[in-house]
Amino acid sequence: MLLKSRCEPYELMVMRILDTRAGLTNSERFQYLNLERGYEGELKFDALTEILGEEIFIINDLLLKVNNSYFQIDSVFITQGGIHLLDIKNFQGSCYLESDKLYSVTTEREYKNPIDQLKRSAALFRQLLQSHKQNYLVDPSVIFINPEFTLYQTPLDQPIILPTQINQFFTKLNKTASKLNEDHKKLAQTLLSLHQTKNPYTTLPDYQYEQLQMGVYCNRCKSFLVTIHKFDFVCKKCEEHERIEKAILRNVQEFSLLFPEQKITTNSIYEWCKADLNKRTIRRVLKRHYTSLGNTSNTYYE
Ligand SMILES: [Zn+2]
Repeated sequence: MLLKSRCEPYELMVMRILDTRAGLTNSERFQYLNLERGYEGELKFDALTEILGEEIFIINDLLLKVNNSYFQIDSVFITQGGIHLLDIKNFQGSCYLESDKLYSVTTEREYKNPIDQLKRSAALFRQLLQSHKQNYLVDPSVIFINPEFTLYQTPLDQPIILPTQINQFFTKLNKTASKLNEDHKKLAQTLLSLHQTKNPYTTLPDYQYEQLQMGVYCNRCKSFLVTIHKFDFVCKKCEEHERIEKAILRNVQEFSLLFPEQKITTNSIYEWCKADLNKRTIRRVLKRHYTSLGNTSNTYYE
């Protein structure tokens, strides 16, 4: 039973917009593409969990805090037999493990070892359970989701689930009898209530309003070469059509995501969209989808 579904990570959403509107440096782009790939892997994993029965609680994307340490767990499965902490990695290509370090075979580049990260999370998670007087078996695993991934020299005692073992992992979970009771429910509720919505250690590039490219861009190919035709924005590059109303809303969301402290007003969105739009059109869309606040000469939307 799915208790908490996954949302697109804030960091990814911002990076995606910055990539289109500001351009990223090489290392920022590398970070951005890693986030895209990671999220893609998590969604692939989520699709697999749909076969699991009702007697397993699934909590995705849990951000927890113990003392002053934050840690994030991609998926938590609560079963009668214990708690699975799962970290999902969408690595591609061939890697090898050597003295607890992870290297790419082709580039010799060293990666952050996901097993170390997971062990840290598991230790913190156990600490958290203890402080809430909950006594459960905690079983952490790193799941390598990408079928194009090979890991050489994998020690048998490592908490690793390789692409070829994923089916077996799910089959086994489904076959193991699990009966959840009130205590499990309470545990799930406790974990959900401890979820942190904002990670203060999120690293984002600095950005300023003035540095960003204003305007509406194509939802498909991200080109700013769009024109208005009747009720649609039409991309000159890929011919994608998007309803004007939908495009305006998409832009409002971007604006408020990047600048949460700025008010959404007809003027601010007009300037942000920088398109051949009537202010009245923008006002109408905002009125329809948001609540208007303030007085007539000073209306803003939330
Ligand atoms: Zn396009």
